[in-house]
Amino acid sequence: MSSQSQYGGDSNMQSKQAASSSEKHVEKASTPGRRAEKKLRAGVLGATGIVGQRLVSLLAGHPWFELTEVAASERSSGKTYAPAVRWHLDAPIPEVARHLVVKGLDPSLDCDFVFSALDSSVAGAAEEDFARAGYPVVSNCRNHRMDPDVPLLIPEVNAAHLDAIPLQQKNRGYDTGFIVTNPNCSTAGLVLVLKPLADAFGLEKIFVVTLQAISGAGYPGVASMDIQGNVVPFISGEEEKMEAEPQKLLGKWDGSRFVDAGIGLSAHCNRVPVIDGHLECISVGLKKIASLNEVREAIRNFEVDAELASLPTALRNPLVVLDEENRPQPRRDVHAGNGMAAVVGRIRECPLFDVKLTLLSHNLVRGAAGAALLNAELLAARGFLKHRVTSSESHLAEPVSQ
Ligand code: NAP
Repeated sequence: MSSQSQYGGDSNMQSKQAASSSEKHVEKASTPGRRAEKKLRAGVLGATGIVGQRLVSLLAGHPWFELTEVAASERSSGKTYAPAVRWHLDAPIPEVARHLVVKGLDPSLDCDFVFSALDSSVAGAAEEDFARAGYPVVSNCRNHRMDPDVPLLIPEVNAAHLDAIPLQQKNRGYDTGFIVTNPNCSTAGLVLVLKPLADAFGLEKIFVVTLQAISGAGYPGVASMDIQGNVVPFISGEEEKMEAEPQKLLGKWDGSRFVDAGIGLSAHCNRVPVIDGHLECISVGLKKIASLNEVREAIRNFEVDAELASLPTALRNPLVVLDEENRPQPRRDVHAGNGMAAVVGRIRECPLFDVKLTLLSHNLVRGAAGAALLNAELLAARGFLKHRVTSSESHLAEPVSQ
Protein backbone atom coordinates (compact mmCIF):
# COMPACT_ATOMS: atom_id res chain seq x y z
CA MET A 1 0.00 0.00 0.00
CA SER A 2 1.40 3.41 -0.86
CA SER A 3 1.91 5.86 1.94
CA GLN A 4 -0.70 8.21 0.44
CA SER A 5 -3.52 5.72 0.29
CA GLN A 6 -2.61 4.39 3.72
CA TYR A 7 -3.02 7.78 5.37
CA GLY A 8 -5.67 9.20 3.03
CA GLY A 9 -3.80 12.46 3.35
CA ASP A 10 -3.02 13.65 -0.19
CA SER A 11 -2.30 17.34 -0.39
CA ASN A 12 -4.52 19.42 -2.61
CA MET A 13 -1.64 19.84 -5.01
CA GLN A 14 -1.25 16.13 -5.53
CA SER A 15 -4.95 15.60 -6.04
CA LYS A 16 -5.04 18.59 -8.35
CA GLN A 17 -2.14 17.39 -10.42
CA ALA A 18 -3.78 14.01 -10.74
CA ALA A 19 -7.21 15.39 -11.56
CA SER A 20 -8.04 15.72 -15.22
CA SER A 21 -10.76 18.29 -14.64
CA SER A 22 -9.94 21.94 -13.95
CA GLU A 23 -12.70 22.14 -11.36
CA LYS A 24 -10.31 22.62 -8.43
CA HIS A 25 -8.35 25.26 -10.32
CA VAL A 26 -11.56 27.21 -10.80
CA GLU A 27 -12.03 26.94 -7.04
CA LYS A 28 -8.51 28.37 -6.62
CA ALA A 29 -9.21 31.22 -9.00
CA SER A 30 -11.94 32.46 -6.71
CA THR A 31 -9.58 32.54 -3.72
CA PRO A 32 -9.27 36.18 -2.55
CA GLY A 33 -6.10 37.88 -3.74
CA ARG A 34 -5.04 35.22 -6.23
CA ARG A 35 -4.27 36.15 -9.82
CA ALA A 36 -5.91 33.36 -11.75
CA GLU A 37 -4.59 34.40 -15.15
CA LYS A 38 -0.86 34.39 -14.57
CA LYS A 39 1.42 32.34 -12.33
CA LEU A 40 3.62 34.19 -9.87
CA ARG A 41 7.31 33.81 -10.69
CA ALA A 42 9.39 32.30 -7.90
CA GLY A 43 13.13 32.40 -7.33
CA VAL A 44 14.96 30.01 -5.00
CA LEU A 45 18.01 31.31 -3.10
CA GLY A 46 20.16 28.36 -2.06
CA ALA A 47 18.57 26.26 -4.81
CA THR A 48 21.51 23.83 -4.94
CA GLY A 49 21.21 22.84 -1.26
CA ILE A 50 19.23 20.00 0.19
CA VAL A 51 16.21 22.20 1.06
CA GLY A 52 16.55 24.24 -2.14
CA GLN A 53 16.33 21.06 -4.22
CA ARG A 54 13.10 20.10 -2.51
CA LEU A 55 11.72 23.55 -3.30
CA VAL A 56 12.76 23.25 -6.94
CA SER A 57 11.08 19.87 -7.09
CA LEU A 58 7.86 21.02 -5.36
CA LEU A 59 7.60 24.08 -7.61
CA ALA A 60 7.58 21.98 -10.78
CA GLY A 61 3.98 21.85 -11.92
CA HIS A 62 2.74 24.07 -9.09
CA PRO A 63 -0.66 25.53 -10.00
CA TRP A 64 0.09 29.09 -8.77
CA PHE A 65 3.87 29.49 -8.98
CA GLU A 66 6.50 28.95 -11.66
CA LEU A 67 10.22 28.67 -11.01
CA THR A 68 12.10 31.32 -13.01
CA GLU A 69 15.34 31.86 -11.06
CA VAL A 70 17.80 29.82 -9.02
CA ALA A 71 20.64 31.34 -7.01
CA ALA A 72 23.45 29.98 -4.87
CA SER A 73 27.10 30.62 -3.97
CA GLU A 74 30.01 31.55 -6.22
CA ARG A 75 30.78 27.82 -6.41
CA SER A 76 27.60 27.33 -8.44
CA SER A 77 26.74 30.67 -10.04
CA GLY A 78 27.29 30.98 -13.78
CA LYS A 79 26.65 27.25 -14.34
CA THR A 80 23.33 25.82 -15.47
CA TYR A 81 21.39 24.17 -12.64
CA ALA A 82 21.83 20.50 -13.62
CA PRO A 83 25.64 20.44 -13.52
CA ALA A 84 25.75 22.85 -10.55
CA VAL A 85 23.59 20.75 -8.23
CA ARG A 86 24.41 17.48 -6.47
CA TRP A 87 20.85 16.16 -6.79
CA HIS A 88 19.55 14.07 -3.87
CA LEU A 89 15.93 13.35 -4.75
CA ASP A 90 14.71 10.12 -6.31
CA ALA A 91 12.72 11.93 -9.02
CA PRO A 92 14.87 13.55 -11.72
CA ILE A 93 15.67 17.26 -11.81
CA PRO A 94 12.56 19.00 -13.18
CA GLU A 95 12.93 20.07 -16.82
CA VAL A 96 12.01 23.66 -15.92
CA ALA A 97 15.04 23.93 -13.62
CA ARG A 98 17.61 21.91 -15.54
CA HIS A 99 18.67 24.72 -17.89
CA LEU A 100 18.25 27.75 -15.62
CA VAL A 101 21.52 29.58 -15.07
CA VAL A 102 22.40 29.75 -11.38
CA LYS A 103 22.74 33.38 -10.28
CA GLY A 104 24.48 34.96 -7.30
CA LEU A 105 22.75 36.84 -4.50
CA ASP A 106 22.33 40.16 -6.29
CA PRO A 107 18.70 41.24 -5.66
CA SER A 108 17.87 41.75 -9.33
CA LEU A 109 16.28 38.42 -10.16
CA ASP A 110 13.52 37.99 -12.71
CA CYS A 111 10.82 36.86 -10.30
CA ASP A 112 7.98 38.14 -8.14
CA PHE A 113 9.19 36.69 -4.84
CA VAL A 114 11.95 34.47 -3.50
CA PHE A 115 12.23 31.46 -1.29
CA SER A 116 15.36 31.45 0.83
CA ALA A 117 17.12 28.16 1.61
CA LEU A 118 20.52 29.73 2.06
CA ASP A 119 23.18 28.70 4.48
CA SER A 120 22.60 30.76 7.62
CA SER A 121 26.04 32.35 7.30
CA VAL A 122 24.71 34.42 4.38
CA ALA A 123 20.92 34.24 4.72
CA GLY A 124 20.46 37.12 7.17
CA ALA A 125 21.95 39.88 5.03
CA ALA A 126 20.80 38.42 1.70
CA GLU A 127 17.18 38.20 2.80
CA GLU A 128 17.26 41.82 3.96
CA ASP A 129 18.79 42.89 0.63
CA PHE A 130 16.01 41.15 -1.30
CA ALA A 131 13.26 42.54 0.92
CA ARG A 132 14.71 46.05 0.61
CA ALA A 133 14.78 45.65 -3.17
CA GLY A 134 11.04 44.90 -3.12
CA TYR A 135 10.96 41.08 -3.09
CA PRO A 136 8.78 39.20 -0.63
CA VAL A 137 11.15 36.67 0.99
CA VAL A 138 9.76 33.34 2.19
CA SER A 139 12.56 31.97 4.31
CA ASN A 140 13.56 28.63 5.81
CA CYS A 141 16.49 30.09 7.65
CA ARG A 142 16.92 30.81 11.32
CA ASN A 143 18.34 34.34 10.94
CA HIS A 144 15.12 36.41 11.10
CA ARG A 145 12.75 33.93 12.77
CA MET A 146 12.77 35.65 16.15
CA ASP A 147 12.90 39.25 14.86
CA PRO A 148 10.17 41.24 16.64
CA ASP A 149 8.48 42.28 13.37
CA VAL A 150 8.92 39.09 11.29
CA PRO A 151 6.14 36.48 11.21
CA LEU A 152 7.32 32.99 12.13
CA LEU A 153 4.55 31.15 10.39
CA ILE A 154 2.80 27.79 10.33
CA PRO A 155 -0.45 28.56 8.49
CA GLU A 156 -2.45 25.97 10.46
CA VAL A 157 -1.25 27.49 13.73
CA ASN A 158 -0.83 31.27 13.52
CA ALA A 159 -1.99 32.68 10.17
CA ALA A 160 -3.01 35.86 12.03
CA HIS A 161 0.69 36.67 12.55
CA LEU A 162 0.79 37.84 8.91
CA ASP A 163 -0.80 41.04 10.24
CA ALA A 164 2.74 42.03 11.33
CA ILE A 165 3.88 42.52 7.72
CA PRO A 166 2.75 46.15 7.27
CA LEU A 167 4.52 47.16 10.49
CA GLN A 168 7.67 45.33 9.39
CA GLN A 169 7.59 47.23 6.09
CA LYS A 170 7.10 50.53 7.90
CA ASN A 171 9.81 49.82 10.52
CA ARG A 172 12.36 48.82 7.94
CA GLY A 173 11.45 51.16 5.12
CA TYR A 174 10.56 48.23 2.83
CA ASP A 175 8.14 49.02 0.01
CA THR A 176 6.68 45.84 -1.50
CA GLY A 177 9.27 43.56 0.10
CA PHE A 178 9.08 41.77 3.46
CA ILE A 179 10.37 38.64 5.20
CA VAL A 180 8.26 35.73 6.45
CA THR A 181 9.91 32.64 7.96
CA ASN A 182 9.02 29.05 8.78
CA PRO A 183 10.26 27.37 11.96
CA ASN A 184 13.12 25.04 12.55
CA CYS A 185 12.47 21.50 11.25
CA SER A 186 11.96 19.91 14.67
CA THR A 187 9.77 22.79 15.92
CA ALA A 188 7.43 22.50 12.91
CA GLY A 189 6.03 19.07 13.83
CA LEU A 190 6.05 19.77 17.56
CA VAL A 191 3.97 22.93 17.29
CA LEU A 192 1.54 21.38 14.84
CA VAL A 193 0.61 18.69 17.38
CA LEU A 194 0.60 21.16 20.27
CA LYS A 195 -1.85 23.51 18.52
CA PRO A 196 -5.08 21.49 19.06
CA LEU A 197 -4.00 20.72 22.63
CA ALA A 198 -3.35 24.41 23.32
CA ASP A 199 -6.77 25.31 21.89
CA ALA A 200 -8.70 22.61 23.75
CA PHE A 201 -6.93 22.34 27.10
CA GLY A 202 -4.20 25.01 27.36
CA LEU A 203 -0.50 24.11 27.67
CA GLU A 204 1.48 24.38 30.88
CA LYS A 205 4.75 22.58 30.16
CA ILE A 206 6.39 20.45 27.51
CA PHE A 207 9.32 18.06 27.70
CA VAL A 208 10.59 16.82 24.35
CA VAL A 209 13.41 14.52 23.25
CA THR A 210 14.21 14.45 19.53
CA LEU A 211 15.78 11.81 17.30
CA GLN A 212 16.68 13.88 14.25
CA ALA A 213 17.56 12.71 10.75
CA ILE A 214 20.91 13.48 9.15
CA SER A 215 19.34 15.37 6.22
CA GLY A 216 18.48 18.04 8.79
CA ALA A 217 22.12 19.05 8.74
CA GLY A 218 22.21 19.78 5.00
CA TYR A 219 24.76 18.25 2.65
CA PRO A 220 27.32 16.80 3.33
CA GLY A 221 26.17 17.31 6.93
CA VAL A 222 27.43 15.02 9.67
CA ALA A 223 30.48 12.93 8.70
CA SER A 224 29.56 9.26 8.13
CA MET A 225 32.27 8.21 10.61
CA ASP A 226 30.43 10.18 13.29
CA ILE A 227 26.88 8.98 12.62
CA GLN A 228 27.07 5.40 11.28
CA GLY A 229 25.95 3.02 14.07
CA ASN A 230 25.89 5.97 16.46
CA VAL A 231 23.81 8.69 18.10
CA VAL A 232 25.18 12.20 18.57
CA PRO A 233 23.52 13.87 21.59
CA PHE A 234 24.18 17.41 20.42
CA ILE A 235 22.94 19.59 17.55
CA SER A 236 24.34 23.08 17.74
CA GLY A 237 21.68 25.68 18.59
CA GLU A 238 18.80 23.23 18.16
CA GLU A 239 17.59 23.01 21.75
CA GLU A 240 17.57 26.80 22.04
CA LYS A 241 15.50 27.08 18.83
CA MET A 242 13.05 24.39 19.99
CA GLU A 243 12.59 26.13 23.31
CA ALA A 244 12.12 29.64 21.83
CA GLU A 245 10.23 29.24 18.54
CA PRO A 246 7.08 27.52 19.93
CA GLN A 247 6.59 30.48 22.28
CA LYS A 248 6.32 32.84 19.32
CA LEU A 249 4.31 30.43 17.15
CA LEU A 250 1.74 29.69 19.84
CA GLY A 251 1.73 33.27 21.07
CA LYS A 252 -0.26 36.22 19.71
CA TRP A 253 0.35 39.26 17.52
CA ASP A 254 -1.28 42.07 19.52
CA GLY A 255 -1.14 44.68 16.74
CA SER A 256 2.29 46.01 17.65
CA ARG A 257 4.30 43.02 18.92
CA PHE A 258 4.37 39.25 19.34
CA VAL A 259 3.39 38.11 22.82
CA ASP A 260 4.95 34.78 23.85
CA ALA A 261 2.78 31.82 24.79
CA GLY A 262 4.59 31.48 28.12
CA ILE A 263 4.85 27.69 28.09
CA GLY A 264 7.47 25.85 30.14
CA LEU A 265 9.56 24.00 27.55
CA SER A 266 12.62 21.74 27.77
CA ALA A 267 14.17 20.08 24.69
CA HIS A 268 16.88 17.43 24.27
CA CYS A 269 18.07 17.11 20.65
CA ASN A 270 19.90 14.11 19.22
CA ARG A 271 21.16 13.25 15.74
CA VAL A 272 20.43 9.64 14.73
CA PRO A 273 21.38 7.61 11.63
CA VAL A 274 18.08 8.10 9.79
CA ILE A 275 18.03 9.81 6.38
CA ASP A 276 14.75 11.77 6.54
CA GLY A 277 12.20 12.32 9.33
CA HIS A 278 12.52 13.70 12.84
CA LEU A 279 11.00 11.56 15.60
CA GLU A 280 10.08 13.30 18.86
CA CYS A 281 9.07 11.87 22.24
CA ILE A 282 6.88 14.49 23.89
CA SER A 283 5.42 14.81 27.40
CA VAL A 284 2.77 17.47 27.86
CA GLY A 285 1.38 19.14 30.96
CA LEU A 286 -2.09 20.57 30.28
CA LYS A 287 -3.85 23.47 32.00
CA LYS A 288 -7.22 21.72 32.01
CA ILE A 289 -7.79 18.12 33.08
CA ALA A 290 -8.50 15.95 30.04
CA SER A 291 -8.93 12.23 29.50
CA LEU A 292 -6.62 10.36 27.14
CA ASN A 293 -9.53 9.91 24.82
CA GLU A 294 -10.24 13.65 24.72
CA VAL A 295 -6.58 14.31 23.92
CA ARG A 296 -6.59 11.68 21.17
CA GLU A 297 -9.77 13.07 19.65
CA ALA A 298 -8.51 16.67 19.79
CA ILE A 299 -5.45 15.60 17.79
CA ARG A 300 -7.32 13.31 15.42
CA ASN A 301 -10.03 15.88 14.66
CA PHE A 302 -7.69 18.78 14.06
CA GLU A 303 -8.91 20.30 10.81
CA VAL A 304 -7.97 23.48 8.99
CA ASP A 305 -10.48 26.10 7.87
CA ALA A 306 -11.75 26.48 4.31
CA GLU A 307 -9.21 29.17 3.38
CA LEU A 308 -6.27 26.96 4.36
CA ALA A 309 -7.81 23.80 2.97
CA SER A 310 -7.94 25.48 -0.45
CA LEU A 311 -4.17 26.03 -0.61
CA PRO A 312 -2.51 23.61 -3.04
CA THR A 313 -0.04 22.14 -0.52
CA ALA A 314 -2.44 22.05 2.44
CA LEU A 315 -3.94 18.99 4.06
CA ARG A 316 -7.40 19.32 5.56
CA ASN A 317 -6.20 17.12 8.45
CA PRO A 318 -2.48 17.80 8.92
CA LEU A 319 -2.23 15.45 11.92
CA VAL A 320 -2.44 11.70 11.37
CA VAL A 321 -2.96 9.46 14.41
CA LEU A 322 -1.72 5.86 14.20
CA ASP A 323 -3.01 3.32 16.71
CA GLU A 324 -0.33 0.62 16.28
CA GLU A 325 1.88 0.47 19.37
CA ASN A 326 5.14 0.63 17.38
CA ARG A 327 4.38 3.61 15.12
CA PRO A 328 5.23 6.17 13.82
CA GLN A 329 8.54 5.09 12.32
CA PRO A 330 10.66 7.24 9.98
CA ARG A 331 11.05 4.63 7.25
CA ARG A 332 7.38 3.69 7.20
CA ASP A 333 5.59 6.93 7.94
CA VAL A 334 7.72 9.87 6.82
CA HIS A 335 5.84 10.37 3.53
CA ALA A 336 2.39 10.61 5.12
CA GLY A 337 0.35 13.33 3.42
CA ASN A 338 3.14 13.83 0.87
CA GLY A 339 5.48 14.72 3.75
CA MET A 340 3.15 17.48 4.99
CA ALA A 341 1.44 15.48 7.75
CA ALA A 342 2.74 15.18 11.29
CA VAL A 343 2.21 11.57 12.34
CA VAL A 344 1.30 10.93 15.97
CA GLY A 345 1.27 7.65 17.87
CA ARG A 346 1.60 6.11 21.32
CA ILE A 347 -0.72 8.62 23.01
CA ARG A 348 -0.67 7.52 26.63
CA GLU A 349 -0.62 8.70 30.21
CA CYS A 350 2.53 10.33 31.53
CA PRO A 351 3.34 9.64 35.20
CA LEU A 352 5.15 13.00 35.49
CA PHE A 353 3.07 15.25 33.25
CA ASP A 354 -0.41 14.51 31.86
CA VAL A 355 0.07 12.82 28.53
CA LYS A 356 2.94 11.57 26.38
CA LEU A 357 3.11 10.73 22.70
CA THR A 358 5.46 10.07 19.80
CA LEU A 359 5.57 12.37 16.78
CA LEU A 360 7.17 12.08 13.35
CA SER A 361 7.47 14.77 10.69
CA HIS A 362 9.42 15.08 7.47
CA ASN A 363 12.18 17.57 8.22
CA LEU A 364 12.72 18.56 4.58
CA VAL A 365 9.04 18.85 3.65
CA ARG A 366 6.87 19.80 6.67
CA GLY A 367 9.99 21.16 8.37
CA ALA A 368 11.44 23.11 5.44
CA ALA A 369 10.51 23.20 1.73
CA GLY A 370 6.84 22.20 2.06
CA ALA A 371 6.45 24.60 4.99
CA ALA A 372 7.85 27.49 2.95
CA LEU A 373 5.66 26.60 -0.02
CA LEU A 374 2.55 26.54 2.17
CA ASN A 375 3.55 29.90 3.64
CA ALA A 376 3.92 31.34 0.13
CA GLU A 377 0.53 29.95 -0.86
CA LEU A 378 -1.13 31.63 2.11
CA LEU A 379 0.66 34.88 1.26
CA ALA A 380 -0.55 34.62 -2.33
CA ALA A 381 -4.12 33.83 -1.28
CA ARG A 382 -4.13 36.88 0.99
CA GLY A 383 -2.79 39.17 -1.74
CA PHE A 384 0.71 39.70 -0.29
CA LEU A 385 2.45 38.38 -3.43
CA LYS A 386 2.06 40.46 -6.56
CA HIS A 387 3.43 40.47 -10.06
CA ARG A 388 6.54 42.69 -10.15
CA VAL A 389 7.78 44.48 -13.24
CA THR A 390 11.38 43.33 -13.49
CA SER A 391 14.22 44.74 -15.59
CA SER A 392 13.67 42.34 -18.49
CA GLU A 393 10.04 43.47 -18.78
CA SER A 394 10.69 47.17 -18.33
CA HIS A 395 12.88 47.07 -21.48
CA LEU A 396 9.84 45.84 -23.38
CA ALA A 397 7.53 48.49 -21.96
CA GLU A 398 6.24 51.33 -24.17
CA PRO A 399 8.18 54.56 -23.60
CA VAL A 400 6.15 56.95 -21.47
CA SER A 401 5.39 60.23 -23.32
CA GLN A 402 6.61 63.31 -21.42
P1 NAP B 1 22.76 23.05 2.39
O1 NAP B 1 22.41 21.75 1.78
O2 NAP B 1 24.10 23.21 3.01
O3 NAP B 1 22.54 24.21 1.27
C1 NAP B 1 22.99 25.53 1.49
C2 NAP B 1 22.69 26.41 0.27
O4 NAP B 1 23.22 27.72 0.55
C3 NAP B 1 23.34 25.94 -1.04
O5 NAP B 1 22.51 26.25 -2.12
C4 NAP B 1 24.62 26.78 -1.11
O6 NAP B 1 25.07 27.00 -2.42
C5 NAP B 1 24.12 28.08 -0.52
N1 NAP B 1 25.24 28.88 -0.01
C6 NAP B 1 26.18 28.50 0.89
N2 NAP B 1 27.09 29.50 1.06
C7 NAP B 1 26.69 30.51 0.24
C8 NAP B 1 27.21 31.81 -0.05
N3 NAP B 1 28.33 32.27 0.54
N4 NAP B 1 26.56 32.59 -0.94
C9 NAP B 1 25.43 32.14 -1.56
N5 NAP B 1 24.90 30.91 -1.32
C10 NAP B 1 25.52 30.11 -0.42
O7 NAP B 1 21.72 23.44 3.55
P2 NAP B 1 20.16 23.02 3.71
O8 NAP B 1 20.03 21.87 4.63
O9 NAP B 1 19.54 22.98 2.38
O10 NAP B 1 19.61 24.26 4.54
C11 NAP B 1 19.36 25.52 3.92
C12 NAP B 1 18.79 26.48 4.98
O11 NAP B 1 17.53 25.94 5.46
C13 NAP B 1 19.70 26.62 6.20
O12 NAP B 1 19.63 27.96 6.65
C14 NAP B 1 19.09 25.65 7.21
O13 NAP B 1 19.37 26.02 8.53
C15 NAP B 1 17.61 25.77 6.88
N6 NAP B 1 16.81 24.57 7.21
C16 NAP B 1 17.23 23.32 6.90
C17 NAP B 1 16.43 22.22 7.21
C18 NAP B 1 16.84 20.80 6.91
O14 NAP B 1 16.13 19.88 7.35
N7 NAP B 1 17.93 20.57 6.18
C19 NAP B 1 15.20 22.42 7.82
C20 NAP B 1 14.77 23.72 8.12
C21 NAP B 1 15.59 24.78 7.79
P3 NAP B 1 26.27 26.11 -3.09
O15 NAP B 1 25.68 24.78 -3.41
O16 NAP B 1 26.62 26.92 -4.29
O17 NAP B 1 27.35 26.02 -2.05
